[in-house]
Amino acid sequence: MFYTVCPGQTGQPLVEQTTFKVKGSAAEPYELTFIKDGSSLTALCTCPAGEFGNVCKHRTSILDGVTAAITSRNEDEVTKVVGWLKDSDVEAALHELRAAEEAGEDLVAARRKLARAMNS
Ligand SMILES: [Zn+2]
Repeated sequence: MFYTVCPGQTGQPLVEQTTFKVKGSAAEPYELTFIKDGSSLTALCTCPAGEFGNVCKHRTSILDGVTAAITSRNEDEVTKVVGWLKDSDVEAALHELRAAEEAGEDLVAARRKLARAMNS
């Protein structure tokens, strides 16, 4: 965890970051990094999908508040990350994907948009 504090401000962290280790299909847990910078939320994952720049369920699960797969013993940080989601670029893209899922629409465009929001 590190903070970048903007000089001249009152010590309010400008950029916040947290990392989880999550049990996936590989022997080694995947590492998920969430970075909050204003209204931009960046979510990265070291799983194959994540490395390819695609959306993965590891990150969407955390954003849904699911802590079951976390092995890094910082499950309490999930609440904070779910808070970061609010009013972020990722929240808007995630809503679009959920709406497309419910409507039974083609998910390719929505998944690509969400991936773009998570990777920036
Ligand atoms: Zn992943």
